[in-house]
Amino acid sequence: MKAAAYWITGTLLCGVLGICIATTHGVVPLAAHGADGQQAAAAAEEYLGDGTEAESIDTVAKIERTDAEWRAVLTPEQYRILREKGTERAGTGALLHNKEEGVYRCAGCDLPLFLSDGRFDSGCGWPSFFVPLEGAHITETRDTSHDMVRTEITCSRCGGHLGHVFTDGPEPTGLRYCVNSLSIEFEKGAQKPKRPDGETAQR
Ligand SMILES: [Zn+2]
Repeated sequence: MKAAAYWITGTLLCGVLGICIATTHGVVPLAAHGADGQQAAAAAEEYLGDGTEAESIDTVAKIERTDAEWRAVLTPEQYRILREKGTERAGTGALLHNKEEGVYRCAGCDLPLFLSDGRFDSGCGWPSFFVPLEGAHITETRDTSHDMVRTEITCSRCGGHLGHVFTDGPEPTGLRYCVNSLSIEFEKGAQKPKRPDGETAQR
């Protein structure tokens, strides 16, 4: 029902704007995405500020593996999603309904990508976040496959496909990072990054 409501709301909105496209993940206003697809990262960074002390991509070397090496370390399903830009079926992901507190890491290289504090229930059928742990850990790329215009998100360290980011998320960022469960692994109770004032980052 939520997905249906989502669709109907988006369709009505599109009727007003007249510039939307339908996607398998929801409805995306075309005008919200620019050619470089980096608006989401900018919005996320504005929200995050520069105070997080989490592992930064600036200090993490990129990981490059051969196709054979990736096949050796990933399950066939993980390989299909992460390395071949696949999408798990909506509503089927193992982490879709995970309510535990902790950190979500890249399933390909272990880079921390999202916190449980940044999650929200979008009803779209995939784990959804309104903010990444650190904007630099996520790379955005304009994706025009399947006759749609979307912004693909990949892990900045290993290049693994995570999903897409849309601009119909909740406040304060207005973003919806739609992520395959198979692209991420959950670490329960992991320590959260601290703000400069000592406060735990709360969303
Ligand atoms: Zn990775």
